[in-house]
Amino acid sequence: MKKICRVCNKELLLESFGVLNGFPDGRNPRCKLCVNRYMASWRLEHLDVIRERDRNRWQKRRDTTLRRKYGLGIEEFNEILKNQGGVCAICGRVESGSNGWGRYENLHVDHVSESGAIRGLLCFHCNTGIGHFNHDPDVLRIAITYLEASMA
Ligand SMILES: [Zn+2]
Ligand SMILES: [Zn+2]
Repeated sequence: MKKICRVCNKELLLESFGVLNGFPDGRNPRCKLCVNRYMASWRLEHLDVIRERDRNRWQKRRDTTLRRKYGLGIEEFNEILKNQGGVCAICGRVESGSNGWGRYENLHVDHVSESGAIRGLLCFHCNTGIGHFNHDPDVLRIAITYLEASMA
């Protein structure tokens, strides 16, 4: 079975039209290619709107995650971040990781697992680093002595 696209007027196989309710044949009157083309140009024209929308959505999701995991809202997170100058509390670097959408991943919330108290915000490396030392200052001190001895 074939169908003519309303936009490009090409006669195409029914499979070339996306499924869409509300139409007599249950298919989009525009072929998939035309829909893609339309979406792409819409996206180009509305980049700012999309970016803003994604940002808000992402912020909201981030807020929910922070609250659930650390009892910390995005406002408080940003406050701590500001106090730290926007960088990792240990190495002073900005987080370099990306979450896959080209956005910067936020610094990790370093918290005391027993009490839930927040120590500060750390980059991925420092966070896992002190984690591997079990957050034990004594072991870390020994590690420093060990490292410095090999430097002398
Ligand atoms: Zn078409
Ligand atoms: Zn760091």
